[in-house]
Amino acid sequence: MISLIGQNRIQLAQTLGKIGVPASQQKMRADQIWHWIYVRGATSFDQMLNLSKALRTDLDAATSVSLPEIVQEQVSIDGTRKWLLRFPPHISADGTPRPAPVDVETVYIPEAQRGTLCVSSQVGCSLTCTFCHTGTQKMVRNLDAGEILAQVLLARHRLGDYPDADYDPGIIAPDTGRKVSNIVMMGMGEPLFNFDNVKQALLIALDDKACGFSRRRVTLSTSGVIPGIDRTAAEIRCMLAISLHAVNDELRDEIVPINRKYPIADLLNACRRYPQEANCRRITFEYVMLKDVNDSLEEARELVRLLRGIPAKVNLIPFNPWPGSQYVCSSKKQIHRFADYLIEQGFESPVRTPRGRDIFAACGQLKSATEKTVDLK
Ligand code: SAH
Ligand code: SF4
Repeated sequence: MISLIGQNRIQLAQTLGKIGVPASQQKMRADQIWHWIYVRGATSFDQMLNLSKALRTDLDAATSVSLPEIVQEQVSIDGTRKWLLRFPPHISADGTPRPAPVDVETVYIPEAQRGTLCVSSQVGCSLTCTFCHTGTQKMVRNLDAGEILAQVLLARHRLGDYPDADYDPGIIAPDTGRKVSNIVMMGMGEPLFNFDNVKQALLIALDDKACGFSRRRVTLSTSGVIPGIDRTAAEIRCMLAISLHAVNDELRDEIVPINRKYPIADLLNACRRYPQEANCRRITFEYVMLKDVNDSLEEARELVRLLRGIPAKVNLIPFNPWPGSQYVCSSKKQIHRFADYLIEQGFESPVRTPRGRDIFAACGQLKSATEKTVDLK
């Protein structure tokens, strides 16, 4: 089954061609199907009432618009939700066969003024940042564009952003007051090691004719893959977050090993280019607070020095422990000292409230049980 979720307009028109839709109709039909999937939240072809019965039957025989299975849903005492999702075997938007099912985690974080969906880009991660639980899961494979986007669609369905989708396909879900208002690519995986799929998914999320998210509400987080940062500026132009976590190469080489390839000075130069090229106001730097590792005032001073000239906000993330982790979270007092210094120096510097720790949904706690298997062709 080819999954239509995640296909761009060109791929969708080609798929329609393959099942016999004449060239003159392909573009119009592709627009209609996009509208059903992304604006109206259709999850079956029966709902697509402006397509002929015969076309719906043909689509159903060769393609799919269904969402992943929810294997587990956990709700934290603070309202955070974590889903373990299973993607069945299918053919990706670009034609790649995916013969083995994979499981990924997606997290929804409700706040007073917004609802943020934390989306995964890979099953596991090829990097091994020492404080991150995902880093202990072997890289299984990249998610395809449809699997990345389906996490957004599934959350919207589950949370009621398409209230009438199932029983009255004539009603379009309102685009204000939605439960999922923001997307952050901060789930499992390094999004810039899966650039093409992440780009394709985000461009559909950002498209007014599809999910219609504003660029200010979509953030890609990276551990510092420099070529991908430049491509993001040119090709996606969403908000950017950098997982910095250390202010000297010696420590960053150890805790964020990609630093050995892309050291701090080069990374910050890429960050200097980003705002102008992507036309975004500023960059977020993420800094995990590890007791006696990276949390001294001296390091706060060095951070200020490094960030000079970059329009930046610094998110301080209290370390979230996981089974077997070797770090301790900095004390509240130390975190606030560090934050106060940054604020004094003119940086907005919120301390991120850990969300969903009781269900292992907080930053860096995600991991799924999928292991690498040999794909049976
Ligand atoms: N791979 C990407 C995106 C996913 S991680 C990246 O590294 O940026 C989302 C954020 O959580 C990153 O800043 C990551 O460094 C941070 N993080 C990882 N493990 C953590 C932990 N145990 N406690 C707090 N933050 C953590
Ligand atoms: Fe991968 Fe990001 Fe975790 Fe590092 S912090 S191991 S890049 S998911």
